[in-house]
Amino acid sequence: MSHPHHPHGQHPGGHPASHGHGGHPASHGHGGHPETIRETYSRIKDDTSGKPAVEYMKNMKNQLRLVFWETTVGCNLECVHCRRLDVSTTLAKDDMTTKEAFAFVDAVAETGRPILVLSGGEPLFRPDIFDIAKYAVGKGLSVALATNGTLVDDKTARNIVDAGIARVSISFDGADAKTHDEFRKIPGSFERSTAGFKRLKDLGMSMQINCTIAKHNVEQIDDLYNMALKLGADAIHIFMLVPVGCGVQIADDQMLHPKKYEEVLNHFYDLSKEAKIQTKATCAPHYFRIMRERAKEEGITISPKTHGMAAMTKGCLAGTGVCFVSHKGEVFPCGYLPVEAGHVKKQKFVDIWNDSPVFQKLRDPELLEGKCGACEYKKVCEGCRARAFYDTGNYLAEEPYCIYQPKMARAGKE
Ligand code: SF4
Ligand code: SF4
Repeated sequence: MSHPHHPHGQHPGGHPASHGHGGHPASHGHGGHPETIRETYSRIKDDTSGKPAVEYMKNMKNQLRLVFWETTVGCNLECVHCRRLDVSTTLAKDDMTTKEAFAFVDAVAETGRPILVLSGGEPLFRPDIFDIAKYAVGKGLSVALATNGTLVDDKTARNIVDAGIARVSISFDGADAKTHDEFRKIPGSFERSTAGFKRLKDLGMSMQINCTIAKHNVEQIDDLYNMALKLGADAIHIFMLVPVGCGVQIADDQMLHPKKYEEVLNHFYDLSKEAKIQTKATCAPHYFRIMRERAKEEGITISPKTHGMAAMTKGCLAGTGVCFVSHKGEVFPCGYLPVEAGHVKKQKFVDIWNDSPVFQKLRDPELLEGKCGACEYKKVCEGCRARAFYDTGNYLAEEPYCIYQPKMARAGKE
């Protein structure tokens, strides 16, 4: 089995996507289609009771929200922390053909109305990427593009817009050229990504910045946040490095200490309260525990009014709201958890999503082990299943990068 891969600096929860469809049969938007999370958010954004957000979460339970699709393994960069072990500078022979890609889009549309995130490698490497995007939009899917941005010239920017893509995320590894380019290993990539961002922004595209936070840039969070504001991004998503794939090779050098991790997430919570931009800490599931602890200290109820869309989602969504499909068609809970749940060329995607034993296990918080299993926050957090897997080989084990001691564990020690 190959590792699931992720595009450079893109990430499962760091999707250009916390803005998209949530296929809840009970809440219908215009034209009888399931309401999108953004539509629901617009409807309930002034609520301070928190009840509609809780209701939304209940209704969204195990609904497919996001599909991250590695459209190709080809990429023009060689980022240090890429999850991929086998960066290819050309399209791979086993990337899905256009025909297979269309069939896969059909299968996704049959399963629900998730956001389809076209990622890679670098999705703009695929010559048929705009045909695929248009086809998916025609099938009623909300389509997002996760790119490194360096290939976005004027013509490509126009093609992205014309294909009907709803949001583009561009990944940055630093708030300045030196930090970013050192990771990307290509001088000038910061400039090119920034230029690509601006071209799309000028055409009115909804833009998101994704940042993988690790030791090399942890002191730049404020700078990255300010850069996102300055560029006019609609959202900034920070992603905490997962030591899987190529990440394993740099884990010791780059992983933050759990205490630092806690500090960063608390700081990000402070930034999010400025409410100047959509903020999301992705693949940092215990952010959702911290959010609750902080809100309690502040004496406020978590609601869309106080915490934005973060009030409407939870920590790890692997296999419960999202999945990752490799360039060959293997299905994984997320791009960092190399436990195969099925294969789209061998099984119906809808069956994999509904019935895969791996997904079934991930949907049962009672199966969580160690302190996550004993934790009062497990339903809103769940811990990162990939970090647990990396640490122990068991994806249901406790998250190794969380310092929290659950009440039950504390009581046991007393
Ligand atoms: S397992 Fe970890 S990396 Fe994967 S979606 Fe969950 S939090 Fe993110
Ligand atoms: S112990 Fe596990 S479930 Fe509890 S907050 Fe930490 S990571 Fe989340």
